[in-house]
Amino acid sequence: MTLPREVVVGNETLLLVGDICGRLGFSESAFVVTGPETQHVAGGRVIDLLHDRGMNVDHLVVASSTMWDVRAVEERIQELKPQVVLGIGGGTKIDVAKLSSARQGIPFISIPTTASHDGIASPVASVKGLSKPYSVVAQSPMAIVADTSIIIQSDYRFTASGCGDTVAKFTAVRDWELAHKAKNEYYGEYAASLALMSARLVMKNADVIKPRMEEGLRVVLEALISCGVAMSIAGSSRPCSGSEHLFSHALDLIAPNTAMHGEKCGVGTIMMAYLYETDWKGIKATLQKAGAPTTAEELGVETESVVEALVRAGAIRPERYTILEEKELSYDSAEKLARVTGVID
Ligand SMILES: [Zn+2]
Repeated sequence: MTLPREVVVGNETLLLVGDICGRLGFSESAFVVTGPETQHVAGGRVIDLLHDRGMNVDHLVVASSTMWDVRAVEERIQELKPQVVLGIGGGTKIDVAKLSSARQGIPFISIPTTASHDGIASPVASVKGLSKPYSVVAQSPMAIVADTSIIIQSDYRFTASGCGDTVAKFTAVRDWELAHKAKNEYYGEYAASLALMSARLVMKNADVIKPRMEEGLRVVLEALISCGVAMSIAGSSRPCSGSEHLFSHALDLIAPNTAMHGEKCGVGTIMMAYLYETDWKGIKATLQKAGAPTTAEELGVETESVVEALVRAGAIRPERYTILEEKELSYDSAEKLARVTGVID
């Protein structure tokens, strides 16, 4: 297993990027992948910081996260042969940097500007244009630098979405346990506990997860990073992605470009927790406190799309055994499930 060697979360931590690169042995060259907006928020500052240390720094601004973007970054990596790739931005920029650097065998540093999902620290990446609608294994970041003074300025909706991706671990871990019992799938108790602990911390601290509240933002960031580490330990997304993620992926196909990943996962978690007869109300209350969506309306999707996504979720990733195999949903039972949990009315 490969784990991040440096993780810093806090105010003005961006200033530490140069020192961190130095400690990791990257003192000559770096390649920065950033987005059009994040270039101004953080990308430019990082490039200056590394230049000041006498490093050769090139960068590419990517506007989307498709395989086309990944290949464009790969070409630059082949041409420039940097010692390290830094992904600076929201989830999509980080995914492009992570996957392209992994495919070229170059280490990667993650510098998130939002707290929207656990991809900021995980070894998996999700980009458009892959043959599958879910994440693929790429590589773990060698370091994660999460500057709360930058992230707190992002739209709060991202952080609320990050809460949804964290509470998802309540059902993801249950699905993993189930797969272990039913299919003798490998189950790592340490990775499972770490993912679960993150979800519990977000639930416990939901009252302070609010716009412009650094304390709450830190809780979400630390939880997301721990989830990323849990995946590195497990060597797959198993501890962090179960039936609730399958629901989210199905919704991506049925109602594309609607809600954010974590928002959909959060709503999925409420319903999957109901199937597990566990504390779905507590999960829903956590999401409500954090200001994350709990209904189809808040997700901006039609009632029918939610029902359809529930029915189709189980077939998204056939090798991933979840509660949806044990409790197969028909249109009728899916509608009932969405109704009884208040996702639709
Ligand atoms: Zn996720």
